[in-house]
Amino acid sequence: MDPTELNTLRHLLDNTGWRLRFPDVLEAEFQGDYTQRYRSHMILSGLLGVLAILAPGVVDPFWMPQVASELWTIRGITIAPILLLLLISRTSFASRFMQPIIAVSSNIFVAGLVALSLTALEPIKHYYSGAITLVMLVVFVLSRLQFMWGLLSAFFMLVSLNMGFLVFGHVSLQLLIINNAVFLISAIFALIGCFLFERSLRQNYLQSRMLSFEKVDLEESNLRLQYLTAIDGLTQIANRRSLDMNLGTEWQRAMRKGEPLGLVMMDVDHFKLFNDTYGHQAGDECLRGVAGALKDFARRPGDLAARYGGEEFVLVLTNASAQQARMVAERLRDRIEELAIPHQNSSHGNVTASFGVASIIPGSGHTGPEMLLLAADQALYRAKESGRNRVSVDGEPDSGQAVA
Ligand code: GH3
Ligand code: MG
Ligand code: MG
Repeated sequence: MDPTELNTLRHLLDNTGWRLRFPDVLEAEFQGDYTQRYRSHMILSGLLGVLAILAPGVVDPFWMPQVASELWTIRGITIAPILLLLLISRTSFASRFMQPIIAVSSNIFVAGLVALSLTALEPIKHYYSGAITLVMLVVFVLSRLQFMWGLLSAFFMLVSLNMGFLVFGHVSLQLLIINNAVFLISAIFALIGCFLFERSLRQNYLQSRMLSFEKVDLEESNLRLQYLTAIDGLTQIANRRSLDMNLGTEWQRAMRKGEPLGLVMMDVDHFKLFNDTYGHQAGDECLRGVAGALKDFARRPGDLAARYGGEEFVLVLTNASAQQARMVAERLRDRIEELAIPHQNSSHGNVTASFGVASIIPGSGHTGPEMLLLAADQALYRAKESGRNRVSVDGEPDSGQAVA
């Protein structure tokens, strides 16, 4: 999570004011989202515009036969670019320039209406000039034109309206004033609508961004919590809780597959003496080292290295017979020796550990994974009894070679 973006969002939410623009990156994302959300509105308003230009043409040949062909030419010239823009409306070019495209389209509509109004005969021509206002309202509201583009569009519409009437038409001053007044009043209302709509959309956008941030935050906390409840704080390997869960799962899996589940229980030798000699902190450091070594031996999916409690650790070995588990335990025993953590009060001179190994193919005669733990624990006891720094396997007689 990016805290600077979060701060920016907070700041923007608190200070929306009259501004309708975000910092560049956010603005680009907002525009992308906007286009995505309102593309269909924009296309619909374009189609309605085309219909509005074409539909009245049905009556041209009956009501104004003298100018019908000119009127149809104007209609054709007006809708041709609009249809083209509608055709490309799903391209990435249109996505990038959706707002200016709507602004240009609406100006083409208005220019077309001005031309129709100038060409049509009395009294129908007034309906066309009246339609200019209607087109603007529809375009602004339906196509979700943003305020800035609305303002620009309204300005150019006003220009083409007056240019048309002043340069090409011979309308009375009175009509000119009325047309301008109606247009301006409607434009003000339409623009206020555009502004309020855009502002609330921007506000919503910021809020939804904030929410997604908070969601990520929550997910991260959840993961952290899961981690904390599964991992032993001192050694950073799985804790007893994870071990119990893992053993339960692997026990079931082994039962389904008819495979042996192996378990190695490890206990650091004379650890109390180690603490007494070197201090508790050195003891902690020693446990971290031992756990680090143990972790490397959980290699297959489903294998697990866990701290069982105190200076006792467990290695769960999936699909491992007693012999295979014994070999792993022997290598681990070597590895602990190789750590060469000095322990002057141990006969070996370095820290060593003892191991109890068991392996069971879970079946109906077994109560559950605690049997495996118990068997490994009993073997571990024997390893301790027979001299430490050695591996004892459940169900096998000890070889009797005292190493320490
Ligand atoms: P043995 O060879 O028979 O296993 O003897 P031991 O001294 O290792 O066994 P014992 O059970 O008598 O002592 C275990 C010691 O481990 C006692 C306890 O203070 C220490 N211990 C348990 N947890 C921690 C820990 O998190 N940090 C440290 N530094 N010591 C711990
Ligand atoms: Mg112990
Ligand atoms: Mg011990």
